This record gives sequence, structure tokens and C-alpha cells, in this order.
Amino acid sequence: MDGVRLAAAGSGAVAVASSMNPVIKLEDFSKTYQSGEVQVHAVRGVSLSVMPGEFVAVMGASGSGKSTLMNTVGCLDRPTGGRYSLDGVDVTQLDRSELAMLRNEKIGFVFQGFNLLSRTSAVENVELPLLYARGISGREQYKRAMEALEMVGLGERALHHPNQLSGGQQQRVAIARALVNEPKLLLADEPTGNLDTQTSIEIMGLFQELNREGMTVVMVTHELDIAHYTKRMLIMRDGRLIKDEAIQNPLCSSEELAKLHAEQSAVALAP
Ligand code: ADP
Ligand code: MG
Repeated sequence: MDGVRLAAAGSGAVAVASSMNPVIKLEDFSKTYQSGEVQVHAVRGVSLSVMPGEFVAVMGASGSGKSTLMNTVGCLDRPTGGRYSLDGVDVTQLDRSELAMLRNEKIGFVFQGFNLLSRTSAVENVELPLLYARGISGREQYKRAMEALEMVGLGERALHHPNQLSGGQQQRVAIARALVNEPKLLLADEPTGNLDTQTSIEIMGLFQELNREGMTVVMVTHELDIAHYTKRMLIMRDGRLIKDEAIQNPLCSSEELAKLHAEQSAVALAP
């Protein structure tokens, strides 16, 4: 896999943590949805901190509250109970527009379905979050987008449209788009859910490299082997956090890719 050339990106697209305040601090966080007469307790009393430089997987059955947790952590929604601080800012106190500003400044999102605009090139997709940032010239936007694409190993595909790229390449474009604003936190909801095994391992390798450079990453996955590329696993059940443990020996993507290739050639050589 292409190396992630963070050092080459002049603007330092991944900010190394300068302080040791938690990036995420949830205290007795709950979220209750009112649907008609019924109250749905989607998340109940979750407390946890994520420090700068962590790489966390969130697991749990469908309906266990993972997306509700991610939406709150990503400032798309606010808690109905408890407190949430993002990089030292108490989110509970913010109104909708302040929440949106904080989100644009601090968070990069990666989705299962890539969510790229199909009629625009890779580099234009990556430039999108910068359109809302004031005081950045068009030329500078292009330059930053190109740097982010180079970081994910796709510099040469900048002018390709999504339908001219493989699934793994499209997810790389989406990761470049998430990085272009130099966020504090990268959030990914099932980022490998639409990818084959080899491509999933490659994408996990990219997250590992970004994390090694200092990026804090939190991702939802329902695959245990994917979670084992991270450093910490949270398990949700019925809105509660039932397990929070370090992963002792995370998988290494280059080793796993080598094993996969060896297996494939063994199959190809079999009579
Ligand atoms: P997961 O991502 O783990 O599948 P969710 O966070 O999406 O879980 O959902 C947790 C619970 O909250 C589920 O019972 C779901 O039906 C409910 N829920 C999620 N969003 C809403 C909503 N907007 N209104 C009402 N109930 C919701
Ligand atoms: Mg979900």
C-alpha cells in the first residue's frame, strides 16, 4: 500500500494532539426519542472518555444505540440527559448553529456508502468541506484537497469521477474529504461495510497510519476482525455500554494482507 505521506502535506493536515484533554468526554449520557406516545431509550447513562491519539471501535447488535452515540459524538444531535464535551467544549450548551460550526471545525465523517457526489471529480469532492470555510482562496482549496488526496495515495486519480474508481478508492476519496479540514476527530460509521476483505484490510491500514500520525479515530463496525485493527473496543447492548477494553495485540494490515495473498496464491497453485 502507498505510504500515507502526512509529513509531505505542508499544512500538516493531521494535527498532532497538543494537549491531553479528552477529545470526547461523555458523562452519564442518555438519549431518549419520543415517538408518538412511546419513549425510546436509545442510549442510557454512558460515561466514557477518548483521549487524543486513540483508535476506538464501537460494536453491538443492531438497535443497541451505536448510531445514536455516534450522532451525538459527531454533534449531529444533542444528548437528552448528561453531558458531552468535545475537545473541551461543552456541547450541551450550544444551539444548532453553534453545534454546526463546532462540527465543521473539529470533525471529519466517513460513511459506509462513501457519500460522494457522482458528477464531480475526486478533487472537487474533497474540496467540498472547504467551500464553507471563510478566507480560503479557490487556489488554496485546490491545493489542500490535492494534499489530502496524496495522503490517501490517490494523487494520480484526482480528476476521476466516482464511477471511474473502485469501492476502496472511493472510500479513500471520502477519507481525504474528511481530513481536508484538519479535524481533531475522525468518525467512521461502518467504513468497510461495503468493501471486500482485501480492500477492508487496506482501508484499516490507512486508518492505522493516520492514527499513528496522531489522528483520533472512532469507528462503528459489526465485524470483530475489523475491530481488531483498532486499539480499544466498546460494546453496546440495549443502549448501555457493557464492555470497554483495550485490544492487546491489534492486527497489522500489511501482515494480514501478506497472509491473504499467500492464501490466494496457494489456492491458485492447487491442482
Ligand atoms: P444502532 O446504530 O446500534 O443500530 P440506533 O442508535 O440506530 O442503534 O438505535 C437505537 C434505538 O433507538 C433503536 O431502538 C432505534 O429504533 C431507536 N431510534 C433511533 N433513532 C430514532 C429516532 N429518530 N426516533 C425514534 N427512535 C429512534
Ligand atoms: Mg446504526
